[in-house]
Amino acid sequence: MYLAALDRASLFLLLGRLDVDIAHEVRTAGCTYCGGPLHWARYPRKPRGGPPLPEELSVRHGLCCGHCRRRTLPPSVLFLGRKVYLGAVVTLVAVLRHRRPGSASGSTLRDRLGVSWQTVVRWMAWWAETFPRSRAWRAFRGLVSPSIRDDDLPAGLCDVLQGLARLRSLLPAWARIEHAARGPTPLTQKMGRFQLTP
Ligand SMILES: [Zn+2]
Repeated sequence: MYLAALDRASLFLLLGRLDVDIAHEVRTAGCTYCGGPLHWARYPRKPRGGPPLPEELSVRHGLCCGHCRRRTLPPSVLFLGRKVYLGAVVTLVAVLRHRRPGSASGSTLRDRLGVSWQTVVRWMAWWAETFPRSRAWRAFRGLVSPSIRDDDLPAGLCDVLQGLARLRSLLPAWARIEHAARGPTPLTQKMGRFQLTP
């Protein structure tokens, strides 16, 4: 079931639309440094894993202040932090391995999603060790069922998020919490990477 979800472009279209909504919300609020107007500074991102995505989804919605020129990177539910794979792929592959180790062999993951076995092992370790201790998860778990056990992540979380209405309401909340927990975008990142659009 989870592997089938990754074949459905509709899941990624939903995530992409949520990203656009979140970015508009952040843009409306203005620059957090000086209150200036934020302009779009989108840049292409070539995510790995998942089905081929339309061009409008292979984009990270960045923002740039018209006054102080500092950049703001709105939270994203399509991309998970700075990982190069789509967030849904990282999550669902870990669920597959966790819940049904026999149902997603190394060759299946490699052939269908282009994910190497070493990468899957790294993701599993991240979900098992890094994520449960993160500030973001500690803040988010108050919004979802307290019955989710740390040793059942991310499968327990996916069970809770099943259903479109639930996804729509909780994913943007998650993206904001995760984004806030990471702190401000380092100013050392160069604006030159961006394609500025009015
Ligand atoms: Zn500013």
